[in-house]
Amino acid sequence: MSGVRTVAMTGSASGIGAAVRARLESDGCTVIGVDLRGQEVDADLSTVDGRRSAVEGVLSRTDDGTLDAVVACAGLGPQVERHELIVSVNYFGAVAVLDGWLDALAGGREPAAVAICSNSISITPEHPGLVEILLEGDEDAARDLAAEIDGPTVYAMTKLALGRALRRRVTAWAERRVRLNLVAPGPVYTPLFQGTLDDPVLGPLVDLLPVPMGRPSEPDEIAAPIAFLLSPESAMIHGSVLFVDGGSDALLRSDHV
Ligand code: NAD
Repeated sequence: MSGVRTVAMTGSASGIGAAVRARLESDGCTVIGVDLRGQEVDADLSTVDGRRSAVEGVLSRTDDGTLDAVVACAGLGPQVERHELIVSVNYFGAVAVLDGWLDALAGGREPAAVAICSNSISITPEHPGLVEILLEGDEDAARDLAAEIDGPTVYAMTKLALGRALRRRVTAWAERRVRLNLVAPGPVYTPLFQGTLDDPVLGPLVDLLPVPMGRPSEPDEIAAPIAFLLSPESAMIHGSVLFVDGGSDALLRSDHV
């Protein structure tokens, strides 16, 4: 493929997003990053207005209104005390930018998008009420309900609903020639994960998750499969959830295939 690919991404200032940004730039891509501060577009994805300015701010920085790839990476961890923020950023923020940039992707070259999910979706008991409200798109109700539920469950349900919402788009996005996949990491050494480790309740639980490969991931080890899923090398991978977790999901759910 010739020419510079233009990639829009959220959460590019830190952790996995920063590693994705560095990886894509070293591959020759032009990255338009969105984060709370310090990137091409400063925007707060926890609000409707912030999401709108993220979508529009990125599009105004493209040469021709098109995008070749998108990565929805911004997110908050299970230790964040304001659970309504986890709901608004992890689910509504991700869905809004993906849908908001679909038209631009449809005009792009061999376009593809990736959203960051989590392997917590397969190890956390499902809270059907929250997942249903998220998928219905009722942000106010989801925020209210999340305030009554523990942080790890809220976190996992935002990622579970995100996975389901995106997999439900598989036909609509294919009709626009745009591929859409999810990467589900286990623990990754980032400031978000450090926040979990530092939490007096959640920190001691981290070691209870068995990781067959014996360690958390480095951010680069998540960025590499994301780069692959954005590239034409993965032309027939669409609607998949790729676990990048050192084998935890396979260990705990060996027969879930
Ligand atoms: P991180 O905290 O290092 O980076 C997250 C980025 O999102 C930050 O730059 C932050 O400023 C941005 N962000 C947060 N709230 C925002 C808002 N309201 N508006 C705009 N930007 C906002 O965390 P990370 O570990 O790199 O997480 C990246 C993604 O990976 C998240 O979606 C997270 O849920 C997911 N994830 C992380 C792990 C892990 O162990 N680190 C595991 C599974 C999934």
